[in-house]
Amino acid sequence: MNLQCRVDLASKYKSGSQIARVLSEEWCKRELYCPACDSDRLTGSKPNQPAVDFSCVKCEQPFQLKSLRNWNPKKIVDAGYEAMLRAIRADRTPNLLVLQYSSGWLVQNLVLIPRMFFSESVVEKRKPLAPEARRAGWVGCNILLSEIAADGKITMISAGVPVLKNQVREEFSRVKRLAELPPSLRGWTLDVLRAIRRLGKSDFSLEELYGFESELKSLHPQNQNVRPKIRQQLQVLRDLCLISFLSPGNYRVRT
Ligand SMILES: [Zn+2]
Repeated sequence: MNLQCRVDLASKYKSGSQIARVLSEEWCKRELYCPACDSDRLTGSKPNQPAVDFSCVKCEQPFQLKSLRNWNPKKIVDAGYEAMLRAIRADRTPNLLVLQYSSGWLVQNLVLIPRMFFSESVVEKRKPLAPEARRAGWVGCNILLSEIAADGKITMISAGVPVLKNQVREEFSRVKRLAELPPSLRGWTLDVLRAIRRLGKSDFSLEELYGFESELKSLHPQNQNVRPKIRQQLQVLRDLCLISFLSPGNYRVRT
């Protein structure tokens, strides 16, 4: 994988954001493979898919690219808040590629967030734009990367070193069955998965997970029965082969 973007393409453009978009999109089309299947190429999207920058010719997975010079591992600015919530509820969010480039236009870091990991819990509403702004009153959103379970942040390039293609595809394959859940149920599953991951160990107990009860309740204020919901989601995660049941009240993360 050649990590260098084509700097010569920048001469046609003036704005920094336009240059970043053109150079990083050209790099993805030239060097990037599909993490969801064995296709070694992604192509540009069709004009009628505004939030999609690339798709796989073989499995048709959609991808959106965000390229940045500076990396904030906690959050990333995204599009309109209401549009994002609508996309999540309709299960239309594309996979997100977050690309960080160096001052010399080398790709430094690339993280893939599979589309199934976008839930309402990870969308933060921003302040409306000021009255003097061109789009006064418009409300954007941030994607809270820190609220996404580690399973949903797949490293493709780390500190200038590409991760093996097979490893990336295995990690995607491990979580792809989350797409089988309707988005109205998936939010709970993802929140419980993140709680499990925050325990920071492979074996865990129901008691430990109950420690997140008040936090989960604040994410889902309409739900009065958080403990039964946690137990139900553990069964869902088991059926998706993401955890296994060891003994009553004891579980293990599957890798
Ligand atoms: Zn594919």
